[in-house]
Amino acid sequence: MREPTENAWFQPDRIYRPGGRTVIERRSLLERMAVAAPVISPARYDAAIFDLDGVVTDTASMHAAAWRRLFDDYLASRPDRAGENRLPFTDEDYRRYVDGRSRYDGVRVFLASRRITEDPPAVQALGDRKDEYFRESVKQHGVRVFDGTVVLLRSLRAAGIRVAIISASRNCVEVLKAASLDDMFEVRVDGVVAGELGLPGKPDPAVFLEAARRLQVTPNRAVVVEDALAGVAAGRRGGFGLVIGVDRTGHPDELRAAGADLVVQDLAEVKLTGVAAAEPGKIEP
Ligand SMILES: [Mg+2]
Repeated sequence: MREPTENAWFQPDRIYRPGGRTVIERRSLLERMAVAAPVISPARYDAAIFDLDGVVTDTASMHAAAWRRLFDDYLASRPDRAGENRLPFTDEDYRRYVDGRSRYDGVRVFLASRRITEDPPAVQALGDRKDEYFRESVKQHGVRVFDGTVVLLRSLRAAGIRVAIISASRNCVEVLKAASLDDMFEVRVDGVVAGELGLPGKPDPAVFLEAARRLQVTPNRAVVVEDALAGVAAGRRGGFGLVIGVDRTGHPDELRAAGADLVVQDLAEVKLTGVAAAEPGKIEP
């Protein structure tokens, strides 16, 4: 796989191999310039698909804390606790191995990074305990919303761009309700839906493609908004028109290397152009 380089202007055509299938992405200079600026044109895009945790709600940090609590206890309790397994679970572990993945994939991928294998019931028990910790935290602290994201969501809807929410989490509905955002999104493809349909998790693009299908838009005409490395990789592999990486942790280069077309620290930086050109019938009050 040839990864995107830093310089959007002189980037060669990108070659990706989603599921073994080779996709060559050709972009004109004008298109490359367009994606280098944090601007969304309603003439170019029909829909935007938002990740939940860390993009819409400030829950990625709560997930990270729940994982840390789980794995620090787990690693400390192992009889073979030695070498690298003396190291606690770090923010880097969260970003690389866990963020954006389902709870059981997260357990497996992190343990594999420490060369530990557990049988499926043990993986499930660990994943479920992490979920208990996360739910405890939501109950105790509530859910904070990123205001810049809500402003962008309202602007998109007013411009006739349809919005969907995706999440690896099975707690998506509860988190949206806690954030009073449960009627913001037309389509939701979360961990519960993915489980029902047997969709693979990120970095596979399946959940984004299912959201685009339900919105009846082609991926090329849709924007993906993600904060996780696995999530931007999924957006890129799915052939989406624009992949925006939201950098909450000060690692913009990693998001770009994983496939983000542009990286912002907050979605308040993203503007809409040509809004007056949106069909009047689509504009909401
Ligand atoms: Mg996220």
